[in-house]
Amino acid sequence: MSEKFDVIVLGAGPAGYVAAIRCAQLGLKTACVEEWINKKGSPALGGTCLNVGCIPSKALLESSQIYYEASKGLSEHGIVVDGVRADVPQMISSKDKIVEELTGGIEHLFRANNITWLKGTGKLMPERQIAVQDSDGNTSAYSAENIILATGSKSIEIGAVPLHSDVVVDSSGALDWESVPQKLCVIGAGVIGLELGSVWRRLGAEVVVLEAQDVFLPMVDQQIAKDSFRQFTRQGLDIKLGARVMSSQVDGNGVSLQYTDSSGEQNLTVDRVIVAVGRRPNIEQLTDPETDLLMDERGLVHVNDACETNLPGVWAIGDLVRGPMLAHKGSEEGVAVAERIAGQHSHLNYDAIPSVIYTHPEISWVGKTEEQLKEAGREYKSGVFPFAASGRAKAQRDTGGMVKILSDKHTDELLGMHIVGGHSSELIGHGVTVMEFQGTSEDIARTVFAHPTLSEAIHEAALAADNRALHIPNRKR
Ligand code: FAD
Ligand code: NAD
Repeated sequence: MSEKFDVIVLGAGPAGYVAAIRCAQLGLKTACVEEWINKKGSPALGGTCLNVGCIPSKALLESSQIYYEASKGLSEHGIVVDGVRADVPQMISSKDKIVEELTGGIEHLFRANNITWLKGTGKLMPERQIAVQDSDGNTSAYSAENIILATGSKSIEIGAVPLHSDVVVDSSGALDWESVPQKLCVIGAGVIGLELGSVWRRLGAEVVVLEAQDVFLPMVDQQIAKDSFRQFTRQGLDIKLGARVMSSQVDGNGVSLQYTDSSGEQNLTVDRVIVAVGRRPNIEQLTDPETDLLMDERGLVHVNDACETNLPGVWAIGDLVRGPMLAHKGSEEGVAVAERIAGQHSHLNYDAIPSVIYTHPEISWVGKTEEQLKEAGREYKSGVFPFAASGRAKAQRDTGGMVKILSDKHTDELLGMHIVGGHSSELIGHGVTVMEFQGTSEDIARTVFAHPTLSEAIHEAALAADNRALHIPNRKR
């Protein structure tokens, strides 16, 4: 007889481990299958996010920004720092320590919640059975009333630029370099390309970003995207749009890349390459052929609004299913599914999920872009306030960017908030909360914000939507 659980979760990334914790909190006998082996060769929880994603990338973004400011940016404050140098191996080991502490923290939470960690690779079998193969190749069978699939995603590879030891790498490889490349090519000007390109640029690499599309950050409000493009260019990120890589060769001198752009065929020689062209779901080996799990046209596990798959009692969440590939989206799906399994009603508002690109300045948004509203034919009002007019931004010597608010022309309901600026990841929560409460731009305009704070720019953008901003000239009435 196989051991039986109320719930087995497959995958312990931010979607799966959060689902497991919530299930256990609700009194369900819960197991979680996880196969991850960390740099030290030990099994680890936390998935992509904690091991090679959100957390290590933010650790390096933080370290590299401090280095950059210390080496270039403190004279304006009247601070003279001599002899600044980057100790990259120390940055990497400090990042590894953070990862180890946080993944160890999840292990502690599993123990505290009596969650059984089944170490190994899980496979969904018919009749809600799970086969788990451990590192010695032994397979054990388990069954559960409910199964939650949360096996996440992995980097997409491209034939024109195959990965090559630590010279041509994906995002995981680029989080472990212990020296700064002199010249770096990043393929893909998406979220990962911009974040990791920024890390290595700040540490001194010459960075060329090759992006296949003609439009920069098409998912971002284009007024915000254009402003950030200008700022990134000023920082020295050489972003080439409409650039399609055709082939590459690695030799003793580095990597030669051949690509085409609007001017024809081009050649580029660099020391190292990061391939950051998107991620795809981890579905290989996920199911036994006898299990008829339905996939959608994009190769993701097909689910309905409640994250139910076509198989009764089998749910799927996180990067494995439709929607943005974001840790917080997966976690909230995990909570919602756990609560549904426990017989509660739970709802996740997909229209109010914030996105952030953690460059400097940070790009943060929630809701609809101006382009999306135009395409939908929705009448809207817009209010923009530049950080150049913010006292706090001036005091921080960080005045790039703006806050932009979009609200319904007739009801004034907040439809979108878009920010490019320092610390905007912390500011966007205001927009999310107002959208969750179906608030209006007038609600924001009537709210008192502390002075001097960056959040006052949100207040002023809301006032600007009604043509009554106080610290910038308004449109003529
Ligand atoms: P994952 O985190 O991928 O976890 C899936 C887990 O399932 C893994 O641990 C894997 O080992 C395990 N698994 C897979 N198959 C099996 C199997 N058959 N048996 C057992 N275990 C299995 N998102 C943000 O919101 N903010 C950020 O700042 C951010 N930064 C990122 C930076 C980088 C460099 C990368 C790569 C991603 C970043 N992301 C960020 C995206 C974020 O990491 C993912 O959206 C998130 O991790 C998805 O969570 P998940 O639980 O669905 O999957
Ligand atoms: P992405 O989809 O954000 O960007 C990939 C980019 O590569 C796109 O602009 C695409 O046009 C381009 N591209 C695709 N093929 C190409 C080619 N052959 N040549 C040149 N350009 C090409 O994907 P990503 O940056 O790899 O990130 C993957 C996922 O991880 C994203 O969906 C994102 O949500 C998530 N992520 C989130 C964060 C965050 O929340 N801050 C950080 C990192 C990753």
